[in-house]
This record gives sequence, C-alpha cells and structure tokens, in this order.
Amino acid sequence: MNIASWLERSARITPDVGALFLGADCVATYGAFLDRALRVAGWLAAQGVQPGDRVGLFMKNLPEYLIAQYGVWALGGVVVPINAKLHGREAAWILDNAGASLCFTSVGLHEAVSEVSETPCLNVSSSDWAAILDTAPTKTLTRRTPDDLAWLFYTSGTTGRPKGVRITHRMLQAMALSYFADVDEVTSEDTALYAAPLSHGAGIYNLMHVLKGARHVMPPSGGFDEAEIFDLARHHGRVHMFCAPTMVKRMTDVAKATGKTGEGLRTIVYGGGPMYVADIVEAVDHFGPIFVQIYGQGECPMCITALSRAEVCDRSHPNWQARLASVGRAQSVVELAIGDAAGVPLPPGEVGEIMARGDAVMPGYWQNTQATAKTIVNGWLMTGDMGTLDADGYLTLKDRSKDMIISGGTNIYPREVEEALLLHPSVREVSVVGRPHPDWGEDVVAFVVTIGDMDTSALDAHCLDQIARFKRPKAYFAISELPKNNYGKVLKTELRKMLEEM
Ligand code: AMP
Repeated sequence: MNIASWLERSARITPDVGALFLGADCVATYGAFLDRALRVAGWLAAQGVQPGDRVGLFMKNLPEYLIAQYGVWALGGVVVPINAKLHGREAAWILDNAGASLCFTSVGLHEAVSEVSETPCLNVSSSDWAAILDTAPTKTLTRRTPDDLAWLFYTSGTTGRPKGVRITHRMLQAMALSYFADVDEVTSEDTALYAAPLSHGAGIYNLMHVLKGARHVMPPSGGFDEAEIFDLARHHGRVHMFCAPTMVKRMTDVAKATGKTGEGLRTIVYGGGPMYVADIVEAVDHFGPIFVQIYGQGECPMCITALSRAEVCDRSHPNWQARLASVGRAQSVVELAIGDAAGVPLPPGEVGEIMARGDAVMPGYWQNTQATAKTIVNGWLMTGDMGTLDADGYLTLKDRSKDMIISGGTNIYPREVEEALLLHPSVREVSVVGRPHPDWGEDVVAFVVTIGDMDTSALDAHCLDQIARFKRPKAYFAISELPKNNYGKVLKTELRKMLEEM
C-alpha cells in the first residue's frame, strides 16, 4: 500500500476541512492538498521521474513541503528530506549520494544548494511552483509494496559522513499505527504544529495527522519561537508538537517568566536526546499532563519505546523517579533486548547495547553494505545506545557506547552525573565527558552553563551528596553555551576536542 493513500482517504472523507495552515491562515483544504500533490506527481512524471527515483526536499517548514512530499509518494518516488540548517555543500553531498533526480527547495536554501549541486533544483517560492500546480494531476497513486522505499533519512552524522537510512512504506505504517497504540490518540479536531525540522522526527509525525484529517500548522517564523508557539496553540487549540528536550526546557523557562500557561497545548512528544528528571518535573508542574516521551533513532524512527502521558506525570508509584528517568517500555511493533558485544540478549538489570527488531526497523543503509552489516546483526538493530531493562520492561538509557567513561576500569555513565548536577540550583545545562588520564585511563570532567558564577566547591559538595565519590567530576569548566548539532544534540566530540586543546 502506498502511504499516500492516507491523504486520499482523508480528502475523500473531509474534502472541505482545512488541512494546511501557515500560522493562522488556511492555505489548503484536504481536497486541495490532495489535488496539488497529484499535480506535483503529474509534473514529476512529465520530467521523466520514475517510481523508485529519489527526490530531495531541502526546504524550510512550509505547507509546500507536505504537498511536495505527498506528490513524490503519489508517483511512487522516494523523498530525501534534508535538514534546512545544513550548508549547501552538505545538502549537495546528500543529493549526490542519494542519486536524486531533482530537489524541491525554498528561498535562501535554493541559492545555497543550486550553486554547488548538479541536481536540478526547483524553488517552491518561485513562479515555477505555480506552473507545477497548473499541470494535469495524475489520476491514481502508483501501487507500492510494503518493502518499497518511501523515505531516505540521512542520519545527523555527529561523527563522519551521514548515512542514508532506508525507510519503507511498511516501516512508516508500523510507526504510525504504533503511535496510536502507545503514544497518543489523534482526532480530526487536532492540530499538528511543526516547530522542529520536518526533515526529522517532527515531519514523520505528519502521517498520523493526515490519516485522521487533522490540521497541519507551519509557524510563519519557520522555526522555534516560544511566544509564537504559545500564540498558535491558543489560536488553533488541541495542539500536538514534537520537541527535543532542550525545546521543552526553553518553553518552560519562557512560560514561567511570562506567565503563559500553555493554553491549547494538548500533547508534547519529547525525545531525540536525554530529558533530565529535574527538567521534566518542572515542565509537568507548569504545563500539566501534556507530555509523552519516545525513544527512537533514524534506523527505527520514533518507535523503539514510549513513556506514556500517565507515566510521565505519575508521582505516586514507588519507582516514579526511576521510571521518569527511563524512556518507557517497548512500543507495540518492536521487540526490545539488551545485548552483549556479540548481540546475545542479556537478563534484566544488566547493562549492554540496546537492540530492536520488528516492522519499524530499517532493512539497511542506502548503498552501504558494510555499515548495514555492522548495524543489523542476527536480525537485530544494534542501536549503539547502552541501556538496561528492569523486570517490568522499562528501558533506561545509559549513554552512547562511545560516550561512556571508563575510569580505573569502572564504567561511569555521564548521564547519571549530569542528572545529579542538574539538581543544583546554579546549573542551567551540563555535559559530562571523559578526559584521558595517565593512571586511570580517563577521568570525569563537567562542562557547566551556570546561572551566575560557578562555585566549584559547592558543585563538588553537591555531587558527594548525590552520587558515588568516584563518579564525581575531577574538573569543572564554565561554558556560556554547550556546542550542539542542528537538531540540538550536544556534541560531546567538540567538548573532547576542547579538552585536547587546553
Ligand atoms: P537520530 O537518529 O538522529 O534521531 O538520533 C537517535 C539517537 O538520539 C538515539 O540513538 C539516542 O542516542 C538519542 N535519543 C533518542 N531518543 C532519546 C530519548 N528519549 N532519550 C535519550 N536519548 C534519546
């Protein structure tokens, strides 16, 4: 089944209902959304694009993004979403690696990529787009099998070149249905607000909202602006958003400072990086029971585990803090295990590599058999994340295996030290890494963004109160801002490089 049939279905049921919005303004009903997507498909076919061909999307978050995406799918093509924050040369590398036939772009990004890429680029903010929408629409969706590719997702590549994850129609269906089973319900009264890049997890969440005929709202700022989000949430109501943990923290800080209550926000799904217990407790205290956590990765998008709304705000369970520090339990469409170095499952309580398998897991990387062989072992996806499962099935992430610190032969998980430091009132943000040490192998150091001046001895005393002595940082460095990648993930590699240069 072609995943675009979900748009066809909603357009048939509610053709006159508003589907695509720029801020408060409706720019297309469901009927118009489908019609434009079919015209894009007709135009692509006229350019010689065939089912299975790759088409890039290097665009800001705009209504045209979703029209182009469904147009490519209607033709049976494969979308290659590229993060709008990437450099034109990085985008060109992805287009080349994917062998893309062409790329849809938006103003600014068009100039950046078309100067350096051989792939033909089409600017949706130009008159060319109007000409496309004048093309005769294709009449039917191209039939797709579950194993056909729908999306080539390029990993954020904190080390080395990004890899293309092959995402099939089956994976997208499994992911979306698992969302209804494990994360949240969606109705036609709901609003999906896209404040994080559509090229990543936030964009994948369009599927459930298309299937249920909900509204899709692009913020006119094109990015993440807390005041704009609060205004749009109040205007549209029943808003669903995907947020990285840093976005949740910023929204809480701004809401508290400005007296906003978050009216109209129904669900914030958070994930993509560690959410510290102190931060989510503060967010729930302020906004109420609107949060659900997911854990996933491009190779099993948004779909490995979930910590439900009820679990995120439950403070009555004897284990509530440990559960809040976990990423929840396996979603319905995946099997989950902790494995040793050879990928053999370990019993509950042991720390090892997190492994997943099931219909939402990728078949492999794009034209990279070596990386696929290292990542899919005995049918399991080796996530590269370390973690532990408790007897009730809750998964707690330790750290990426490469971020774990080994000091004097003992494993130290930076996350645990970071959680402890964040409980100190002067700590705004923190990242803990290992520093090479002649006797111990590595020792623990913390980079801290403080509120006011940093008081090292107070932080040290605080750690002694919270965690084992050997885990506490041996050095603290004040930093005004932590280095982060385009998705807001802290770049520990940069911090380690800074240590080398000290
Ligand atoms: P990406 O493939 O760019 O989405 O990155 C996926 C990685 O982000 C995972 O392998 C984890 O290391 C991290 N991640 C995703 N969700 C969570 C979460 N809920 N808590 C902590 N880390 C997460």
